[in-house]
Amino acid sequence: MLKELKVKTSKKQEIIDITNQIKKVVSESEVINGICIIPHATAGIILNENYDKNVCEDILNKFEEIIPQGDNYKHNCIDNNAPAHIKASIIGPSEIVIIKDKKILLGTWQGIALAEFDGPRERKIFVKIIKG
Ligand code: ZN
Repeated sequence: MLKELKVKTSKKQEIIDITNQIKKVVSESEVINGICIIPHATAGIILNENYDKNVCEDILNKFEEIIPQGDNYKHNCIDNNAPAHIKASIIGPSEIVIIKDKKILLGTWQGIALAEFDGPRERKIFVKIIKG
């Protein structure tokens, strides 16, 4: 099963919790046990703590510190978003979570989030569920 989700971002850089949308897709699928793959092409997908929102702020602040907007990037002459490409590459474009008894297995404080580095825009997220 493949499902497409849309997430609207409202800032240049932000981390948006999508755990509940993924849980809904999994619960509506026919799959009892398997895996769930959440890929994204140009933003990042994060599997990390979603209880304390400061974690997301810390991630964004640290990224800005080590990959600042103002550096002299070659790609910026094309569409001025070189830092977004670098940050998305480091975060990675997808995560895989296990489905057990129609629920995704996450740690107590863990959630799934979209990491926007070149917003605001509407992002498409594909959710692929594989029985197994
Ligand atoms: Zn670009």
